[in-house]
Amino acid sequence: MDANATTPLLPEMMEAMRPFWMEHFGNASSIHLHGQQAHAAVDRARTTMADFLNCHAAEVVFNSGGTEGDNTALVGLLRSGDHFITTAIEHSAILEAAKRLADKGVETTFVAPRPSGLIDPDEIRRAMRPETRLISVMLANNETGVLQPVEEIGKIAKEAGVYFHIDAVQGAGKVELDVRRFGCHLLSISGHKMHGPKGVGAMFVRRGTPIEPLLVGGSHERRRRAGTENVPGIVGLARAAEAAMHSLEDGTIDRLAALRDRLEAGLLEISGTGVNGAALRVAPEGRRENSPGQAQRSPGKDASTDLAPRRGAANSGGGDPAFRTWESTNPVPRVANTTNIWFDQLEGEALVIALDLKGVCISGGSACHSGATEPSHVLMAMGLDKTRARASLRFSLLKTATEDDVDYVLRVVPEAVEHLRALSPVAAGTLG
Ligand code: PLP
Repeated sequence: MDANATTPLLPEMMEAMRPFWMEHFGNASSIHLHGQQAHAAVDRARTTMADFLNCHAAEVVFNSGGTEGDNTALVGLLRSGDHFITTAIEHSAILEAAKRLADKGVETTFVAPRPSGLIDPDEIRRAMRPETRLISVMLANNETGVLQPVEEIGKIAKEAGVYFHIDAVQGAGKVELDVRRFGCHLLSISGHKMHGPKGVGAMFVRRGTPIEPLLVGGSHERRRRAGTENVPGIVGLARAAEAAMHSLEDGTIDRLAALRDRLEAGLLEISGTGVNGAALRVAPEGRRENSPGQAQRSPGKDASTDLAPRRGAANSGGGDPAFRTWESTNPVPRVANTTNIWFDQLEGEALVIALDLKGVCISGGSACHSGATEPSHVLMAMGLDKTRARASLRFSLLKTATEDDVDYVLRVVPEAVEHLRALSPVAAGTLG
């Protein structure tokens, strides 16, 4: 139940990689036979990735994963005096890189999400300055699964003549990636989030984008990323991309969305719970309705994008009134495998530990921050108060998840919640 942290390699990826560890171990830069075999494998993988991203093979750069892609986009493009626009809900690979660039004279605007978890494209437009050089927005949020309106933002970037990077790490394998449709110049993905190997990823770099490499040395990857290619990893990544393309067409994602929806509906039957990353239900007179879990998903809708309006966060935010109206009346699109649930009168971490003892792995937010005492920056940016943000947990299903897995989780979570609430100082009102 923690697939957004990482996913296991599937047997077919392992099989594809196996010969490249020992038999075809050549350096893809060597001119002899071993080198040629490795080079050909990397070329084939590049063609597959180009198909996956809808770009030219020459626009694919292999690297070590999402963190490297995100860092490269920012550090490779931004210079002193530039202005950078990103969002307050990005992964730390973006947020920390922006922090470092502040020391180098790059100013960043962090656009806050709407309480639903969506970024209002109009807020991006408003943040634009004459010296803005780059916008970076994630495709899917790792904690809530909310899909961002990247196409809209791509159009804004185009109108303004600004470069646009998408962190697609959590979207890859869950929704179709199409860099032309997105209108981006740069896009980052990571193997281990899509049943590929860890420590390998790829970046789309649109032809003509003047990006400086993060790593210099040899002339690998057309001088855009130095270092001997991780041939087995690249082969495994490409096999994972093939499987991902297949799963978008063979019903796997729909099945996953139905499972997630059943899990979510079951969890919402526990009292004092709700979903983070949902549309706000606005009452006719404009008041927000606040009853937790009151709205049930109507059956038969497209589950991958459907989310019945449920209780929202406290922050009413600013932004475009038309967007607010849209947001309050439409389901917020999410990836199929993720739900983020708050449990009143509970410490999220206590539930993570209790469920771990029952063999259920979930997370309080980004795996990179688990163990951190601060509540999730994503949920806080959406307007949750600290108590509710700490009482929120992410359930993210593997593509291999089954009905039995969901049944088991729905059996153990209510028991654990009841037990913890009985013991909880939060419930007893003894915590401030
Ligand atoms: N971006 C997002 C949205 C992520 O969820 C992650 C990993 O959790 C990363 C970037 C970093 O990717 P990697 O683990 O490949 O460095």
